[in-house]
Amino acid sequence: TYVVTEACIRCKYMDCVEVCPVDCFYEGENMLVINPNECIDCGVCEPECPAEAILPDTENGLEKFLEINATFSAQW
Ligand code: SF4
Repeated sequence: TYVVTEACIRCKYMDCVEVCPVDCFYEGENMLVINPNECIDCGVCEPECPAEAILPDTENGLEKFLEINATFSAQW
């Protein structure tokens, strides 16, 4: 899955939301989040983010944001 990280906070460009083929972006507390159960790992959103906030979960050190994405996307 892909994960939205710190640079998204208070950004709200929403370019990523428009390109996602499975509509798996959701509103978090102060940033967007990706539902890890719905993301099909296509990678289309990553280059669309002007803040470079979207990363694949294979990157190191994303534990905190993986949890935030899972928690806030599950509320919908
Ligand atoms: Fe959506 Fe693809 Fe980005 Fe996953 S990787 S959030 S499916 S655009």
